[in-house]
Amino acid sequence: MSSANLSAHEALTRLREGNQRYAQNVRSVDSLVSHSRRDSSLQSPIAVVLGCSDSRAPAEIVFDQGLGDLFVIRVAGNIVAPSQIGSVEFAIERFHTRLVVVMGHTLCGAIDAALEAITNANAPYSRSMGSIVDHLRPSMEALVHTSLAQDPEKLRREAMRANVRASVNHLRHGSEIIERLVLEDGLLVIGAELDLVTGVVTFLDVSAGEAQPVSEARQSVPPPSRR
Ligand SMILES: [Zn+2]
Repeated sequence: MSSANLSAHEALTRLREGNQRYAQNVRSVDSLVSHSRRDSSLQSPIAVVLGCSDSRAPAEIVFDQGLGDLFVIRVAGNIVAPSQIGSVEFAIERFHTRLVVVMGHTLCGAIDAALEAITNANAPYSRSMGSIVDHLRPSMEALVHTSLAQDPEKLRREAMRANVRASVNHLRHGSEIIERLVLEDGLLVIGAELDLVTGVVTFLDVSAGEAQPVSEARQSVPPPSRR
């Protein structure tokens, strides 16, 4: 596909249209795959997607995109650690991709694990699993002590959103390269949530991802290095 130099908003439109096809069960991905395979020596992904490893949340399928269209980073809980930042930097510099999406999803086991760890100090996690949980906890710790605690479903959804916002914030401000390209070259870093039941992806705070201060997000999310 000729997707080189697509603007962030053009890319966002493609993702929205692709997700509409997915949610309506009219995916066109087979033709895209065969089309892209003809020129596999090149890639010009239209978007970078940082998503959860959950087997029900593959970005290429939920956005109905083919080979070469998306640069996908997947890790449980769509957390941001140095290797995720490095992967994003690589894609936006090498391929000039101008849209970065952090995508959380409903029914996320990693979010559940973090909520459990907050409420149960003896939750059994290995050190490596614990490091993922530790990335997740700061953004959702405060939620557990609000009235949301009375409504587990709502708490899970708000915790997922808080984590997406924290990951977006970490990407926007945890890398000089990303920060510069947001300010000077039209890079957009936004959050999204995938509803596993309907298949619909909702983009969050699109306008806040543009080249302007995101002071509100900055204040509401604890710094990533707190723990
Ligand atoms: Zn998940």
